[in-house]
Amino acid sequence: MIYLDHHATTPPSPAVIEAMGALMVTTWANASSQHAFGQAARQALSGARATVARVLGCKPAEVVFTSGATEANHLAVRGLLGAAPAGRSRVVFSAVEHSGHLKLAQALAEAGVPVDVLPVTAEGGLDLAAAARLIGPDVAVVSLMAANNETGVLMPVAEVAALARAAGARLHVDATQWIGKQPFDFGAWGADAVSFSGHKFNGPKGAGALLLRQGATLRPTVPGSQERGRRGGTENLPAIVGMATALAALGDLGSEASRLAALRDRLEAALLTGLPDVHVWGRGLPRLPGVSFLRVGMWSADVLLNRLERLGFAASSGAACSSSGSEPSHVLTAMGVPPEEALGAVRLSLGRTTTDADIEALVAALPALRSLLPSAEPATA
Ligand code: PMP
Repeated sequence: MIYLDHHATTPPSPAVIEAMGALMVTTWANASSQHAFGQAARQALSGARATVARVLGCKPAEVVFTSGATEANHLAVRGLLGAAPAGRSRVVFSAVEHSGHLKLAQALAEAGVPVDVLPVTAEGGLDLAAAARLIGPDVAVVSLMAANNETGVLMPVAEVAALARAAGARLHVDATQWIGKQPFDFGAWGADAVSFSGHKFNGPKGAGALLLRQGATLRPTVPGSQERGRRGGTENLPAIVGMATALAALGDLGSEASRLAALRDRLEAALLTGLPDVHVWGRGLPRLPGVSFLRVGMWSADVLLNRLERLGFAASSGAACSSSGSEPSHVLTAMGVPPEEALGAVRLSLGRTTTDADIEALVAALPALRSLLPSAEPATA
C-alpha cells in the first residue's frame, strides 16, 4: 500500500522513534520534580526547547509546548482574546481555517464574542480587500492559517500582519501545514503567535507548540505552573523530544520542496491527461509543493478512494478530521464550489517518504483506475 495522505499525518522518522524510545527508558521522570531524575528530565526539556528555538528562529522562552496544533490554536485565540484591552472584543478568522479551529470560532460566537469570517476567492486565496475592511480598531485577534491543509494554497500572512499591526490587533498564524514544508523564521511574518504540530513533519502525534512573541501576554486556557504559567499539565517529554528531533532533521527545505513539486506536477499532468474531466483546485495560486486537491468528473470521493485503495493507494477526501465523506469540504464551499462537485474532492498529499517509484506506480495504475470507475458518475454513487 502506498501512502499519499501526508497532510493528515506523516510517519515518524527512525531517528524520532529512536530518540523517543531511549528517552522513555532513561528520562521518564516529571520535569518539575526536584530530585536528580527530575533534573535530567528538565534538562532534556530545555534541550528540546533550545532546538525548537534555534530551528524556528525564536527565543527559547517564546516556545510554549502543547499537545498539538488544535490546543495551540485554542490557546492563541482564547488566550490573546482574554488578555486584550477593553474595547477590543472582536475575533477574525478566515473561512478556510482547519475545521477544528472553526469549531472554536463557532463556540466563541455562541458565547457572545463578535466573530468575523474572512472570505476566500474562487481559487482559495484570501480576499484581502475584505480583510482590510474587517480588521478594525475593535479587533482583538486575527487568526489565519499560513497554508491550507486541503488545497495547499498559501495565505498572504505578511499582508494580513500589516493590517493587524495597523489596527493594533494581535495576529495568530496556524502554521501547521507550513512548518516542515516551507522555510520559516518566527520574526519574518510579524505574527504575535504561531502554532504547529510535530506529526506533520515526521515527528510524533501529541506534541506541538505555540510560539508566543515576547511581550505578547495571554490568559492561559489550562492554567498551571508549567511552561512559565502559560500552559498547565506535565509535559509530554518523549513526544516533545521527538518533535525537536524531527525539526532538527529537516535540513534543506528548498530541495525537498522542489523534489515534491516535481513529483506532484508529474502526477497532475498524468491525471489531467489520463482521466476524464479532472479539475485541480488552487492550481493557479502559489501552493504547498506536495499536494493535489482534485475531482474526477462527477465521481464521488467515496468511489474514487475505494478504487484507489483497491489498487494499493491510500489517499483522503480532505482533512482527516472531517473526511467522513457525507459533508462537502467547508474549504470548497467557501470557494463557491457546488456541493455535487465538492463531494468528489480527493486529496493526494506527498511527503518525505514518497519516492519517484510511488508516483510512477500511481501513473501506471491510472488506466486500471479508469476501468474500475462505474460508467455513471453521480456524486453520491
Ligand atoms: N491546523 C491545520 C492547518 C491542520 O492541518 C491540522 C491537522 N490536520 C491541525 C490544525 C490540527 O493539528 P493537531 O492534529 O496537532 O491537533
